Amino acid sequence: MKKSILDFTKDELADIVKPSFRSKQLYHWIYQKYANSYEEMKNIPKDIREDLSENYILNPLEIVKIEESLDGSKKYLFKLHDGYTMESVLLPMKNKKIDEDGKIISLTKYSICVSSQVGCKIGCAFCLTAKEGFKRNLTSGEIVAQVLEIKKDNDIAQNRRVNIVYMGMGEPLDNMTNLVKAIEIFKDEEGLAIGARRQTISTSGLSSQIEKLGKMDLGVLLAISLHAVDDELREKLMPINKAYNIDSVISAVKNFPIDARKRVMFEYLVMKDLNDGLKSAKKLVKLLHGIKAKVNLIYFNPYPNSPFQRPDEKDMLEFKEYLNTHGVICTIRQSKGLDISAACGQLKEKIDNDYS
Ligand code: SAH
Ligand code: SF4
Repeated sequence: MKKSILDFTKDELADIVKPSFRSKQLYHWIYQKYANSYEEMKNIPKDIREDLSENYILNPLEIVKIEESLDGSKKYLFKLHDGYTMESVLLPMKNKKIDEDGKIISLTKYSICVSSQVGCKIGCAFCLTAKEGFKRNLTSGEIVAQVLEIKKDNDIAQNRRVNIVYMGMGEPLDNMTNLVKAIEIFKDEEGLAIGARRQTISTSGLSSQIEKLGKMDLGVLLAISLHAVDDELREKLMPINKAYNIDSVISAVKNFPIDARKRVMFEYLVMKDLNDGLKSAKKLVKLLHGIKAKVNLIYFNPYPNSPFQRPDEKDMLEFKEYLNTHGVICTIRQSKGLDISAACGQLKEKIDNDYS
């Protein structure tokens, strides 16, 4: 299969196109001017353009379907070159503010939720992505293209920064090499210029990989999908806990370098009668002792035939209150895109909706 030009860092491109300043020009065309073909890149000599177009795909993704939610989020179904499909979601986080005279005070802020694999090997009991098994890792270019295509499709100007959350399909730390390269490509000032602090990696808790990522000291933010406070329940929900138990995850987090102004996010998926009680909240406070943490409570998002239930609002609020009054910052995540199955854990790679 042909490689994509998006698979390369600027330094790597410098080995492909000579002299080296051409890699800068290429980056400008691709990531800042949103070029759709090599022909457009007029300041690059024709023979180089022809060579590139013969050897490297400019866009590795094809948009197959876009669904828009009532809350403004948009789910993209992308087709890959080998026919597999995967999804990404555009999430408007804060809406545009306009003053009384109609002047724009601040523009909409966006997060883009990207996938890292087609399917997932981890097999969490509550997750729809897991149901389809694992197909393959995404290449760096396929990860990068999700953001690029979504920015283009929504006319989000090159200099408008977006946040990236690696919370789509797949386990990012199970595709570490391609992930790290994608982070580098995103960061490039000549490219999309999305700094590491705007990139959050969500992981089911592969402790050894968290340690490895920490040692690279990239400056990225970390989110841990914890979901349970004792190993017995966590093992049932997330089989990965057999290999990496709660203690090992907590100790990996303690070793992870975090910007002094930032916190590690702990995601806690709340399921009715399973982990929604104050006993769990108490244990969670103990577990997080000594960590600069922030807890995000997530309502379980049901799908047809899912074995778990959404918790009661009252229990969610009590849980949150307990954490907040015991020194742990906690918020309840307002899931976006529920009506189009774009919310957490609802992404899957099939085109036909056999779950809905
Ligand atoms: N594999 C990574 C990132 C993708 S999952 C991880 O597990 O962290 C992104 C988030 O969605 C995780 O916190 C995951 O636990 C959560 N999630 C999965 N299924 C869900 C569901 N049915 N309802 C709500 N959140 C879910
Ligand atoms: Fe994979 Fe994350 Fe889903 Fe678990 S929750 S199966 S790790 S995508």
